[in-house]
This record gives sequence, structure tokens and C-alpha cells, in this order.
Amino acid sequence: MVERQILHVDLDAFFASVEQRDAPELRGKPVLVGGAGGRGVVAAASYEARVFGVRSAMPMAEALRRCPEAIVVSPTMGRYQEASTEFFAILDDFSPLVEGLSVDEAFVDITGTERLLGGPRDVALAIKRRVVDEVGLVASVGIAPTKFVAKIASDIRKPDGLCIVEPDDVLTFLHALPVKRLWGVGAVAQEKLAKLGLHTIGDVANYPQHILEKKLGKNSGAHLGALARGQDSRSVTGGREAVSIGHEQTFESDRDDLEYIENILLAQCDKVARRLRKHDYRARTIVLKIRFADFNQVTRRQTLDDPSSDSRVLFERIRSLLRALPIDASKGRSGKVRLCGVSAANLEERDAPRQLGFAEAERARGEALGDVMDQIQDRFGNAGLGRASHTKAKKE
Ligand SMILES: [Mg+2]
Repeated sequence: MVERQILHVDLDAFFASVEQRDAPELRGKPVLVGGAGGRGVVAAASYEARVFGVRSAMPMAEALRRCPEAIVVSPTMGRYQEASTEFFAILDDFSPLVEGLSVDEAFVDITGTERLLGGPRDVALAIKRRVVDEVGLVASVGIAPTKFVAKIASDIRKPDGLCIVEPDDVLTFLHALPVKRLWGVGAVAQEKLAKLGLHTIGDVANYPQHILEKKLGKNSGAHLGALARGQDSRSVTGGREAVSIGHEQTFESDRDDLEYIENILLAQCDKVARRLRKHDYRARTIVLKIRFADFNQVTRRQTLDDPSSDSRVLFERIRSLLRALPIDASKGRSGKVRLCGVSAANLEERDAPRQLGFAEAERARGEALGDVMDQIQDRFGNAGLGRASHTKAKKE
């Protein structure tokens, strides 16, 4: 059986972090998001506030007693929703199997994507980096063969955590943890387990199963016993969008000269096409992403009649998508850009033989040219090799 590789990705102190991101004067300070009224509760607390023992769902009055200097901020759901959408869009780029647990956490099954995306640690680091760059927030990631263990792993090194539990280490990892880490164990169950002398997950794993079922009820007992032994066959249920391959870049300074942006996009199309060819894929859909200086972001996608891994074909579409956007200093349109990106989605394998029409022959030629360039780059690196249009002097 193939071991599954499941990520649990969770944004750190989500609401409070969005507030700190958007208001620099809140950074480094204890921030409580929630209603300040007499019966208000804490919806989220920044890490600076948690030091004082403040937790979410705590009455606001209690939180302020523990941390009198805390700054209370009313929730701004619109901005949280926006950040959540961006967060999930990033996850969708890494797997078709993304299962959201709430606005700020999800399981991502990356089993079998190694060929395309690299190992689990690479994927986790790439996700963390993109969440910082694109959403301005910090995510913690846990990686394990099961959902249950991945979820614990993401929590255990928060904030900014990354914890990988290898299949062989699952039981060692689990058994040292307190029983309250078991999924579904609240205060009541915790007390019942304590009465049986069970304090760690290891205690539960080693306890006779039939007695556990008798004491906790058949279902709960069976469920907790299985989890404690590392058994959790629940799969990640998702399936919203296919895997995509993408490149993007934040500029050193905001730009509105199309030529500059187009050159970056061309280089990105080259990289995307190169990765497609390396893995024998073609893209059916090509996506342009532009983030403006004011952090507004647009994505434009176009489906190709003929799937391709030829960077010229990809770039042609990307360029026309770009030119339809309100950027171009020379035409008096303004909209400075801080980031651009290209991704290929809706991938298909490149092997299926087809009828070789004109378009097909043209595509084969483009791909063959790309293959040659790939081989040269593999042998000699990137130096000195680029398509003619990178250097503005020549014409294609
Ligand atoms: Mg969270």
C-alpha cells in the first residue's frame, strides 16, 4: 500500500494576524478580536496576548482582566474572507485534494505529486512561502500519513511551525502526547480516561480495547483506540481544481511599463513550459495573475483549443490577457503592478497520439525546440540561453 502524504495547513492566529497585517501599529502588541461589550467573547487572540493566558472563546472581560493592555478590535469578516479565499487558492495549486476544515485550515493530500512538486518538505515550504508573500500571513504545516496525526503536527510547533512525522515515527510521536490531543476527546472524556489511569495516548493504545469500549461506549472506545494506535483511514475529500504549475514574482519596485512586465511573464512562461515538458504534461488552461500596488489582485484564465507545453503558445495568450488589463503608463492608464505570475492548470499527459494536423505539427515543433533548450539548460545551466525576445535586440 502506498503511504499517503497528508498536509494539515493552518494559519496562525488568523483573525488577529489579519488585523496586525493591515494595521502596523498593532504589530507586536497583544490584540484581541471580538466584541468589547459586556458579554463579548474573544474570537481570536494574537500570540502577544496568548502569553497572558488569553484563549479564543474566552469571555472578553476575563481576557482583559488577564491582559489589561490588550487592544480590542472588532472583527472585519470581509477581510478575513478575502484572505481565506487567497489562502485556499494557493492550496489548490498544490493538489486537487484540498479539504477545508474552517476558513483558515485545510488538509491537502499530496500523495503522488512528488514527481511534479518535489518532496513533502519542499511542498510545505513552498506553501508557507507563498502564504507569506501573497496573503501576508503565516501558516503552520504538519505532515503525516494520516489526517489525525497531520493535524496534531501542524499545531505542535506553532507559530510558523513545520513538523514532519514519518510513517515509522507515528507511534513514537503519538504515544508521548496527552490524551486530550486525541480527536474527539473533550473535558468529559478526558476525565473518564483519567479515572482509568490513562493520561497519554500511549496509555490508551496499550489499554485493553474491550474495556475501553465498555467504559466509553462502543463507538467512542473503538474510535479512540484506533486513533491511539495510529489508525486513521479517513481520506482527504476535496476535488475542486486540478493541480497546476506556476511561477510568480514580486517586483523590487511597483511597475507600470508593459514591456518590463511582459519580459518577466515571458521568462515565467518559459519556466512553466519547461516544467510541463519535464513531467510530460500539457496545459489546457493558462492563468495570468496580477497583483496591483494597492494589493488588489486579478486572475485571468484562458483555455487553449490545443493543450500545449510550448512557451511561445503560452506567452501569446498571457500577453493578450495582460494587455486587456488597465496597465500601461504610455496610454495614460495607471495601475502599478507589484507581482505577476503565470500558471498552467488543467494538465493532461503528453503521450496520447493524435491526428497530426497543421496545429499538431506546429505544436510538435515548438515542443521539440523546448526539449532541446531543456537539454542545453540541464547541461549548461541558464547562462547565455534564452529566447530571442528576451533580449529586445532581435525579432522572432
Ligand atoms: Mg488557525
